[in-house]
Amino acid sequence: MSTVEPFRPTPGAAKTAALAEARRLAGQVLVDGRLQCPPSGRALPVENPADETVIAEAARCDARDVAWAVEAAQRAYPAWSRRPARERGDLLRRAADRLAQEAEPLARLMALETGNALATQCRPEVASAIELLHFYAGLWSELKGRTLPWDPGTFAYVTREPLGVVGAIIPWNAPLLLMMAKLGPALAAGNTVVLKSAEQAPLTVLRAAEILQEVLPPGVANAISGYGEEAGKPLAEHPLVRKITFTGSCAVGKQILHYAADKLCPVTLELGGKSPNIVMDDADLEQVVSGVIVGMRFTRQGQSCSAGTRIYLHEKVYEEVVSRTVAELGKLRIGDPLDEQTQMGAIISREQFDRVTAYVEMARATPGARILCGGRRAAGLEKGYFYTPTLIEGVPHTSPVCTDEIFGPVALLYRFRDFDEALHLANKTDFGLAGALWTRDLSRALSFAEKIQAGFVQVNQYAGPRAGLSYGGYKMSGLGREYSLESMLEHFTLTKTVIVNYGS
Ligand code: ADP
Repeated sequence: MSTVEPFRPTPGAAKTAALAEARRLAGQVLVDGRLQCPPSGRALPVENPADETVIAEAARCDARDVAWAVEAAQRAYPAWSRRPARERGDLLRRAADRLAQEAEPLARLMALETGNALATQCRPEVASAIELLHFYAGLWSELKGRTLPWDPGTFAYVTREPLGVVGAIIPWNAPLLLMMAKLGPALAAGNTVVLKSAEQAPLTVLRAAEILQEVLPPGVANAISGYGEEAGKPLAEHPLVRKITFTGSCAVGKQILHYAADKLCPVTLELGGKSPNIVMDDADLEQVVSGVIVGMRFTRQGQSCSAGTRIYLHEKVYEEVVSRTVAELGKLRIGDPLDEQTQMGAIISREQFDRVTAYVEMARATPGARILCGGRRAAGLEKGYFYTPTLIEGVPHTSPVCTDEIFGPVALLYRFRDFDEALHLANKTDFGLAGALWTRDLSRALSFAEKIQAGFVQVNQYAGPRAGLSYGGYKMSGLGREYSLESMLEHFTLTKTVIVNYGS
């Protein structure tokens, strides 16, 4: 049997094509059914993190542009919300199919603007984003109500209605997946959306919005770009925005809640994490070594909210797991994100690179702490924000290196003797997004699942969120859940109770 290999352009050709696409999109937003320049006409630079060049100027929206986009979404709302859910689902399915046809150019554009490696992150992310949109397209039939027993001569029922215009604000680390995590449930449920991309990564989102627009009615899904204070804040505060869904930092998440307070607007927040990954002495160490690397999201430069950044290893397996993990990390190929061989790309920006460096230097200066691998810029890559995968031991639990989310390729290692001690330390954090335990002991596994204070818990694996499984945090990691049926019903609809007294 012969298989046909997909055509893969050289990194140079892939970059040229992605650059041309970036320039075509420059300065524009997708509002009211078409790509156009927003009224303010201002721009912000988008950088390629792999070579520090500006690849395009993206639209830099302000409050006036935001109002213009929100009004377009409001105009589209009555017809979209009244459209049979079956038809909305059908349109979203067709939109997802169109995205699938454009998957490869989308992945290349993403690699260019985010620095994420095409092979290990961008292609899988595009596939997951399409899967998520397909998933929500298929959920239209779940937008149903209930009937309730009430008094004789009455008929009582509960229906679900959309909320109106949704304001969605996303970060740069997984732009397409997070775009679909917002658009999918919001649109399927009959809301219209204005989505603000992150200033560092507006282009893939804009191109995806353009593709959706081939199928969706004008004004239903709008994508704008700009800075947080200038565009995100007015979007969240706009009186016509009746729901805010946000993914980003904890600090901004709290601000979003303040913006929403005055208009009593519901909010979904997907915030940061500092998640524990605990390895017992009976675990399958083969699985553990790859699980620690996957869990740390090293092939995404550690730029993931759910990354397992605090790794607790039982003292009996500590040395072996550490030495094998260090050896495996040494083999990771760091470099040009568009090169098929690259497994780890660049950190998103100079600011983030400096932040990662500052935390590692803080650890280096901490008595008792030891950098076991990495801890420096990648050798031979002087341009671009390439940082080596870094493991550090001996950092006190009270150090900011341990308490703060670094959002870079930096994991901390801790040795423990008994499970309760590890569990106690794992829970000793303000965050509560994810957590994993590696063991062959079923009772230990279930006890961990019961006691860990986190919203996304795994045993003997450390995968990312997938369509269908509720994902969201405890404590400072957020409010609400995404990626699931419940998240559509609970976060993007309102229930209405109706009692009809038909007399008798
Ligand atoms: P990160 O640290 O990952 O960049 P941020 O929370 O700073 O996370 O940004 C996530 C998103 O929130 C981005 O789209 C950003 O522009 C937006 N944002 C930042 N500050 C504000 C703000 N004050 N109001 C609304 N949105 C904001």
